[in-house]
Amino acid sequence: MNYRRLGRTGLKVSEISLGSWLTYGNSTEKSTAVEIIDTAYDLGINFFDTANVYALGEAEIIVGEALKKYPRESYVLATKVFWPMGEGPNDRGLSRKHVFEQAHASLKRLGVDYIDIYYCHRYDPETPVEETLRTIDDLIRQGKILYAGVSEWTAAQMAEALQTADRYLLDRIVVNQPQYSMLNRYIEKEIIPFGIKNGIAQVVFSPLAQGILTGKYKPGSEIPKDSRAADPNSNMYILNNLKDEILVKVQKLDNLAKEMGITLSQLALAWTLRIDNVASAIIGASKVSQVKENVKASGIKLSEEILQKIEEILA
Ligand code: NDP
Repeated sequence: MNYRRLGRTGLKVSEISLGSWLTYGNSTEKSTAVEIIDTAYDLGINFFDTANVYALGEAEIIVGEALKKYPRESYVLATKVFWPMGEGPNDRGLSRKHVFEQAHASLKRLGVDYIDIYYCHRYDPETPVEETLRTIDDLIRQGKILYAGVSEWTAAQMAEALQTADRYLLDRIVVNQPQYSMLNRYIEKEIIPFGIKNGIAQVVFSPLAQGILTGKYKPGSEIPKDSRAADPNSNMYILNNLKDEILVKVQKLDNLAKEMGITLSQLALAWTLRIDNVASAIIGASKVSQVKENVKASGIKLSEEILQKIEEILA
């Protein structure tokens, strides 16, 4: 496993990280989740991603329990705040009250004394950025959070966060967590150039387009029974992408990977990591075998010729 610096910070994270959305606390059995986390750790993954809202706290509990047996300094733990945790008007968003309360609730569920990276899971138009950043800055001073991040903020929103932090001498955000894969490249236009210029790393989610970029969903074929797309808790993003027009391209990518002697998931992950500003690609895994396969993407360098072939297929 290779490790990269998280933007301009001194923190080193594994190129492949492990997430827990729609898996742990949901469709994946707890014992399997723990086995997957243990396998990831043994294979050099040191970066684990969760969020308060994943299975309404259950994912944090499982991830925390699984990691408890390892020295705290040997892994980087990230969680998030924003999405509703209850019905009340203050059970969501980035207000001082909700961020403060959820940071403490996450610490408790994870069973740790501090969170390495705390993300604002979306931008909150109903809370001044200064209020949120000041709260996170306070939590950093109290030793409860080490680094601040955002997820799916626009370049303009991140610029606002940086200017606000500089104006009030608050801790800066150092990382953004956007969606990025061969099937969703929106960050290439503005977000990555902004990240490079301002030292904000990208830690990208759904790099396998939720499993589509493994090649297991085939055009004109039935959805595999034990897959995310067949899960009743599934989501519109994966279902919207299961179109023959997309799946035909994916099969061509699969053939290209085979010619290279690697799997499509390894090709798709290595492709996201071709960009230095991408510090890590967060995979999900519902089976131990998936982690074992996916970690091998770390260190695969793609030649200009291969990158060109990928562009032609995706065009
Ligand atoms: P992926 O694109 O890696 O999809 C993961 C899913 O694909 C797995 O759960 C599995 O599903 C399938 N899969 C993975 N590897 C293989 C393989 N080798 N062979 C076959 N199938 C495979 O990422 P996710 O969409 O899960 O996102 C990753 C993480 O990113 C999340 O867990 C979460 O932590 C974070 N995230 C953050 C968001 C945000 O708003 N900040 C939003 C979404 C995710 P199955 O076996 O069930 O088909």
